[in-house]
This record gives sequence, structure tokens and C-alpha cells, in this order.
Amino acid sequence: MKTNGESLQQVTEVLGKALKSFLEQSQEGKGKVLVQKESNVLAAELQLSHWLKQGLASAGQVEDLLSIYTDNTQHLHHPHYMGHQCAVPNMGAFIADTVNGIANNPMAIYEMGPAAAVMEKVVINWMLKKAGWLKSDSIEETRNHKTGGGGVLTHGGSMANLTALSAARARIAPEAWTDGTPGNLVVLCPEVAHYSVSRAISILGLGSKAAIPIKVSDKEVMDPDYLAPALRQVKEEGKRVMAVIANACATATGLYDPLEETGLFCQENELWYHVDGAHGAAALVSDQHRHLMKGVHLADSMIWDAHKMLRTSALCAAVLFKDHLNMLNTFRQKGSYLFFEKEDVGIDAIENAIECTKSSLGTKLFWSLAIEGEQAMADYIGSRYDITKSFYDLIRSTSDFECPYEPESNILCFKYLAPDSNDSFQLAIRNELVKRGDFYITTTTVNGARYLRVSVQNPDTSLKHFDKMLESIREVAMALRE
Ligand SMILES: *Cc1c(COP(=O)(O)O)cnc(C)c1O
Repeated sequence: MKTNGESLQQVTEVLGKALKSFLEQSQEGKGKVLVQKESNVLAAELQLSHWLKQGLASAGQVEDLLSIYTDNTQHLHHPHYMGHQCAVPNMGAFIADTVNGIANNPMAIYEMGPAAAVMEKVVINWMLKKAGWLKSDSIEETRNHKTGGGGVLTHGGSMANLTALSAARARIAPEAWTDGTPGNLVVLCPEVAHYSVSRAISILGLGSKAAIPIKVSDKEVMDPDYLAPALRQVKEEGKRVMAVIANACATATGLYDPLEETGLFCQENELWYHVDGAHGAAALVSDQHRHLMKGVHLADSMIWDAHKMLRTSALCAAVLFKDHLNMLNTFRQKGSYLFFEKEDVGIDAIENAIECTKSSLGTKLFWSLAIEGEQAMADYIGSRYDITKSFYDLIRSTSDFECPYEPESNILCFKYLAPDSNDSFQLAIRNELVKRGDFYITTTTVNGARYLRVSVQNPDTSLKHFDKMLESIREVAMALRE
């Protein structure tokens, strides 16, 4: 099939029809959340090698293939989807992805997508404003020196963490860019920091041993009392602290580290403070939940994934800096064909990003926010945080389930209590539940013990669905014990 106006119209028609029924079925909770066939079986059913060789000749063939494809997807729009922290995309996400599929404006240099570049700048400013890091009155201000803070969208939070830590390295050891990373840099981070943090530390050449774990409570929240002794210890060893990291929130539990106490410690000791808000920075959008991020004003950098709680499709993450100069110094490198002197009509994200070609990520977040307006997004985030608290209350009213803590976000861990239930029993329950395909949840360990875990992104998931899931778990547990 050729790419032209006529085929676009035909494909849009079959896409619209297929996706409409996919979305409606999912939203109404019809069918399974997930059907996982064996990969060999699925590859054959999709006839992938056939299509690669023959090519798709008509919209009808696209429709047939699409129908098998959607049958074999993870159904995020199904209210029983309570799994990984992946946004349930809204219509804005659809518009952005569809437009990108035709226009394709990799806007890291302004002239490769002026409108997309401006959208990125404005949504970055919107995020900076939420963090209290925007100096200008208008989020439409595109000049860095006027905005105070700065930031860039990246392909994922892992890349954003790497970018933030590169900036921290550029501040403490600017010579690292040319001479290599000094051997005495360390990072203080909670024991349960996301694995992308230790990865970034290794990639930056500090070595994974340079990640100094700060003790966490039995709920896996960082205890800031351990920061001072850790700092003393590393100083005695002749080390220098490149950054201190706090979770907002922790991936496993959804609980927030004490951001303010950690920030004051960093301020007092003049240390770079990085907040990993990949998931939980979303609380900044909701008036009722913003207090969870109290103390973020003390941070130097923060990451925030729009593809977790801001309803964009994967990927769309932000790395934000309170002072844009820290961003500008991050990558001190020149590529003459890209960085040549030119009349400064726009904004080039390329100088501040790891990526060279970069998707028009700003369009994703812009459309996702604009499709219903900012207040709808705030209500959505607030409602997901609140419903998770209701799940917790429901669990507390049962005698056969237990939670290790009260949730602060839309992530909740719990376990099924049975006389001889142990860690592997929780795991068996989860695996069987997912195999049956009626619900999708994850599992994690908290303080060494195995739990079932939900993350509630779906706007339609209600207490009724959660109650039904507990019932299913009871059935599964019974079957497993027979
Ligand atoms: C998800 C997550 C990340 C990684 O983000 P990706 O977009 O998946 O790369 C980093 N930190 C925390 C706390 C997270 O929850």
C-alpha cells in the first residue's frame, strides 16, 4: 500500500473502526485484560513473515491484521488493568501519536519542527511552574534566561535520571567531560532507588559502588537521619558527594521520601539535590495532593514521567532544573554540523539532551493536557490517589487481606492471608490471576516480604472492580491450595 491521501483515508477508516471497538470493549470491561499466548503460536497467528514478504495490499488486510493484534494486547483501558505504572492514554495522546505518524517532526533542532519545539518548551514551563521553578509569569516564555528554571523532554525516566546526574557531575567536576570522571565521586540515594539510578551512576563512570545506600524504614521510606553519618563517613574516606537523591514516590510502595528534610540537609551541606519524581511528581498537579511534594523547591533537579500519570502514551519524560544554567552546562560538547552558529530564531533542545533525533515529545504532553484542560487532569490524578486510599480501607475491613502501610499515591501493596501462606504463595496467586487474564496486577517485595501490588492509572477503575478482584484472589487461593 502506498502512502498517499487516498490510502490515508482508507486506513483511518479501518483504524477508527478497529480502535473504537477495542476501546469500547475494554472500557466496558468486556473480555480479558490480557491473553498471553505462547510467543511462537502468536507469531504464527499474526503471519508476520508472510506480511513482511508480501506487503499489505489493502486496508482490508490492515484491518484483519489489526484485529489479531488488538486481541493479543495488554488492555490498559480495561478497568481491571491495575498493573505497571503505564498511562492509560487519552484522546490527546492518540492525536499526538497519529499526527507524529504522518508529520514526524524530530524537533531537537528547532527547524525540524517549530510548532513541536514550542509545545515542548511550553509544557516544560508548565511543569516548572508546578514545581515552583518558573520565574516568568507566562508559560509561553521561551527564552531560558527569562524562565529561571529549564528542562527538556526525554525518551523515558531512565534517560531523564541519567541527564540529571550528568548535570550534577558537570557542576562538581566540570573537567570530567574531557578528562574522565574523578574516582572519588559518590551519590547518596535510598536503598530502594529505582535501578535506573545505579545504572546512570555506572554509565557516568563512577562505578556502581559509588551509589551509597541510605537506610530506609520498614516501609522503605528513606530515613534522613542516616544522611549526616553517611556524609561524614564518605568525607573521611576522601570522597565527594555528587548528588543526593530522594524518591517521590518509591516505585514499589508509592510512598514519598521526606523531601523537605532531605532538601534542608542538602542546602546546609551545599549538595546537589535530585528528586526522582518519575511517578509521583504528578501530585503537583492536584491541589489536594501537592503537599506530598513539599520541599521540592529545595531540589536542583527533578524527573517527571508524563507517560505514567499524565496520560501520554509511552514515552514522554521530563528532566527539570531549578536553574537553567545547570542544564546548559550538562553536555559540553560540539558537533559542528548541528551546533553551527545560526540566527537565533528558535530553541534547540538538542544541546541539552542525550538524544540527537528526538520524537516530538512535547506534542504528546500538550495534547494530553489540552484535550480536556488542566483541571480535568488534576481531578483525574486526585481521584486515582483517593480511590487507592478507598482500596486500602476496603482491605482493612476484611480479615483475609493485609496492607503493610497506608498508601499516599495510587500504588498499593497487599497480601492474602492464609494459614500457611508465604512469599511463594503470594507469587503463585499473582501468576495464576494473570494467567486467567481477568485482572492484571503486579507483585513486589517490601522490606523483604512478598506482596501483591496494584497501580491504579485507569480512570474507570472503581471500588467495585477492586472488590471483585479480591473475590477472584480468594478463588485462586482456594484452587491453589487444593
Ligand atoms: C518508572 C520510574 C523510573 C524510570 O522511568 P522510565 O520512564 O520507566 O525509564 C525511574 N524512577 C522511578 C521512581 C520510577 O518509578
